[in-house]
Amino acid sequence: MLTVQQHEEGLKKIKAGLATKVRILVPGEACPVCVAIEGVYEFDTVPTLPPDGCSCIGGCKAMYAPVLDMFGP
Ligand SMILES: [Zn+2]
Repeated sequence: MLTVQQHEEGLKKIKAGLATKVRILVPGEACPVCVAIEGVYEFDTVPTLPPDGCSCIGGCKAMYAPVLDMFGP
């Protein structure tokens, strides 16, 4: 499980890198709140992790991952 600071750091790195969007990855054993926010988001609409009402056992299991939309020339 990641701390709020680690989530923020991860998101910052994704925004600073080559990614065009952010994906929220949610493992199968996560709580319904986390499962509901799984998906791909624009940088300015991505929800904060952990989400409000998260009830994952042992801490929020969702995490940020970069989405790379790279098309060759
Ligand atoms: Zn959760």
